[in-house]
This record gives sequence, C-alpha cells and structure tokens, in this order.
Amino acid sequence: MAAVRKPLIAGNWKMNNSHLEAIALTQKLGFALTDKDFAATEIAVLPPFTALRSVQTLIDGDKLRLLYGAQDVSPHEDGPYTGDVSARMLAKFGCRFVLAGHSERRIHHHEDDVLVNSKVRAVLQRNMTPVLCIGEPLEVRQAGEHLDYVLAQLDGGLAGLTAGQVGGLVVAYEPVWAIGTGQVATPADAQEVCRAIRGRISAVHGHPAGASTRILYGGSVKPDNMPAIMAEPDVDGALVGGASLDASEFVRICRYRERSTA
Ligand code: PEP
Repeated sequence: MAAVRKPLIAGNWKMNNSHLEAIALTQKLGFALTDKDFAATEIAVLPPFTALRSVQTLIDGDKLRLLYGAQDVSPHEDGPYTGDVSARMLAKFGCRFVLAGHSERRIHHHEDDVLVNSKVRAVLQRNMTPVLCIGEPLEVRQAGEHLDYVLAQLDGGLAGLTAGQVGGLVVAYEPVWAIGTGQVATPADAQEVCRAIRGRISAVHGHPAGASTRILYGGSVKPDNMPAIMAEPDVDGALVGGASLDASEFVRICRYRERSTA
C-alpha cells in the first residue's frame, strides 16, 4: 500500500517580526484557518527565536492547531556557545520542527554538510522533526549538475541516521536561485529533483523510508503557483518565505486545493 504523506506547509519568517508582530500574525492565522484546513494539511510557522515564546503561549492558550518550530539550532548541548540556542531549549518551547541547513545559513554562516548533519542529529535527539534544507545555486543548475549537487547535500545531511529517523523527517528542496527572487521553479523542475531525492532515500535507507519522508518545495511559492507545484507526485508541501509574512497570502497558499486545476 502506498504511504500516505500528509502535506506540510511551513512559513519561514526568517529575521522578520518582533514578538508583538509575531503575535499579531499568529492571531490572524488562528482566526482564518479552519478545522477543514488542518484536516487536509499540517500548517506550521517558524518565527525567529525571540518570538517563539509568544507564539507558543498564544497557540497553547487558544488551543490553535497551528504547529511551530525554529529556523536553526546549535549542534551542541548547552554550554559555552555564546549566542547559540540548543535543541533542548527548543524542545522545551514545544517546537515540532527545526530547520537545518537553510541556504541562507549555508551562505552567510558557511554551514557545511557535516555541521548540518550534526544539527539534524541534535534535533532528532530531542524528539523534534528536522527539516533538512538542500538546493543548488544558479551556476550549478546552469551547468546541469543540480541533481548530483542536491543528492550530495542529501547524503551529507542524512549520514549515519537510521531508516526510521529518515522516514520521519522532512526534506525541503529549495533551489537557491528561487529563494526570494520571484523566480519559482517550474512544477516539472521541482518534481524532477523531489523524485530524485525520494529515489535516493529509498536506495540508501530502504523503500519504506523513501515512501514516508515528506519532501517540500521552497522558493518563491505564492498562492497562484502553489496548485501546480502541489499536483506533482513527489512534492508533499512547501516551505514558504516571503509570502508567509502576509496572513491572507499564506492562508491562500494553504488552501491551494480550492484552486487546483487537476
Ligand atoms: C525560504 O526562505 O525558505 C523561502 C522559500 O523563501 P521565499 O518563499 O521568499 O522564496
């Protein structure tokens, strides 16, 4: 029987929203999203660290079905790592998801696959779900080497994990050239890479892991391009940056089925 993968749509707020702005945005989402939305799709927000407590308090207090998580984590346990935030701290906040290896961290903080792998492990150790972000820069795509590049990032990020751990995590394919540029990948391009990712997971970690790992597309997702991307068989949801900062845009993305052409 084919694995049933519930779609996941996660809003990566990046370095936007003070805790007060985060409360306002979460309230709007809580007001707009319905049980029907949550029955069809897991929906999460990923605020900056400074807003996590406020978002948690609001979601818990109002019993919202919105999930939440963090954009990064230290690979270390608590200790002398000034400015960092540990997986234990995020787990205490009730985070469900934690991004690892977002391209903005790889670019601005020089994170490599070894470090990203240690972050994935730290998240798993605290029973949260890592969202491993991978994706090729423009020059790699132009050279036609995107599949090799992305699969190498995948292998590095998942190194040493058990099949059970891999089957429960989330991979986000985010081509760097599509992030924040308005230049979304075509549905066929997204499918080509997501299919290759699933194939590689099946080959390395076994078919059950490949069938159950959720693979998201990210990069300039908007309400209008979401339905066609979600029609692809190996795309299980979206990691949304800019468009997640506007409640009505994000809700429209979550309701992509209503505009489905299939
Ligand atoms: C992201 O930051 O993960 C992202 C996909 O950004 P955007 O949607 O703005 O391209």
